[in-house]
Amino acid sequence: MTNNKHVPFLDLVTPHQELRGELLDVFNAALDCAGFIGGPMVEGFERDFAEFCDVAHSVGVSSGTDALRFALMASGVGPGDVVVTVPNTFIATAEAITQTGARPVFVDVDEQTYNMDPERLREYLELGCTRAKRGEVIDRKLGRRVAAIVPVHLYGQTADMDAICELADQYDLIVIEDACQAHGAEYFSRKDQCWKKAGSMGFAAAFSFYPGKNLGACGEGGAVTTWDEGLAAKVRMLRDHGQAQKYYHQVEGYNGRLDAIQACILRIKLKRLSVWNDARRCAARRYSQLLAEMDLGWLAGKEPSWVKCVYHLFVIRVAKREALMTELGAAGIGTGIHYPVPLHLQMAYRSLEYQAGDFPVAETAAAEVLSLPMYPQLMIEQQERVVGAITQFALQSGMGAPKRNSRYAVAGH
Ligand SMILES: *Cc1c(COP(=O)(O)O)cnc(C)c1O
Repeated sequence: MTNNKHVPFLDLVTPHQELRGELLDVFNAALDCAGFIGGPMVEGFERDFAEFCDVAHSVGVSSGTDALRFALMASGVGPGDVVVTVPNTFIATAEAITQTGARPVFVDVDEQTYNMDPERLREYLELGCTRAKRGEVIDRKLGRRVAAIVPVHLYGQTADMDAICELADQYDLIVIEDACQAHGAEYFSRKDQCWKKAGSMGFAAAFSFYPGKNLGACGEGGAVTTWDEGLAAKVRMLRDHGQAQKYYHQVEGYNGRLDAIQACILRIKLKRLSVWNDARRCAARRYSQLLAEMDLGWLAGKEPSWVKCVYHLFVIRVAKREALMTELGAAGIGTGIHYPVPLHLQMAYRSLEYQAGDFPVAETAAAEVLSLPMYPQLMIEQQERVVGAITQFALQSGMGAPKRNSRYAVAGH
């Protein structure tokens, strides 16, 4: 931190300072053996990460986008297929789908959790699709086979997986979790009466180790997790030019491997992840308490009792978002918008022919969401400064007042 007035949106410097010695040793060890690609460092991390996710296999790849793409391809998704996902996510979710040759179809999200609304999914499958003679589910408008569902565990909170997996079973669809923001998040399955880790519930899942994620490399990285040995083997081939044995290529693949140095760095940071996630949960609780002292009727996202969210982001909603963002910026407080334009209204997806109004929940969210500073090392004083500045903005813009007796109460209010 440069000065205690400034509250950055994200602090990637402090956590690496703590680990500097250990991380530098990784580079020295890599130079000594020159094992930069594959090898025991990658395998060791894959074992540890599979264990962390309570799943049988994890396969390291070069990014979260590749993880999603390889998981879909290895599941048999390809040209002519439809894959169902949500419009309020990072574009990589949809890119991975189109890069297999499939076409994304969106369903709207739940107002409280920002994640896929199982009722909208049911509606699409019941009304938007028909069953072909061979049992395949066909999108009525597109005339294409629906192959898979990609729920996104956005902001660190899992989607309602019982309901989604039940529909997937009923319609014989594959579920691939986009867990790129949810390392360590948990979901209570009412069906199986137990907590489950993000990445262990679908046929496969994709994780990103982009530096800003809850578990981040010092560069790019990703992983596919799965219970299915066959799928893990296919992803291993896809990431390495379609070969299981050097120069014997069973299929055409990609250059999509995880670096040994990144794997080793991730292995060191993985040991800290549970503590870091707990710190994020703690910070989120503090934000909620501080914000509850104001009577502004703003929606901080809800954490249902069946989720343990790992708060990749802490998101509030406010109608005068742009003005608040500017005001916080002027006070030295960093914020972000995740995401300002839902995918169905992005220029890149004009060809999908969606319109404004197609997904009202996602569209309103896009206009109102604001991500506050969130990282494990965030301090109480910093959070108080953030909420103090929000309160001041609310008072000035006549949006509401702190509750009486709150620490933000102002004489005359
Ligand atoms: C970060 C992210 C991805 C892509 O991960 P990369 O490692 O950047 O390729 C995909 N989906 C979501 C929801 C993400 O947040």
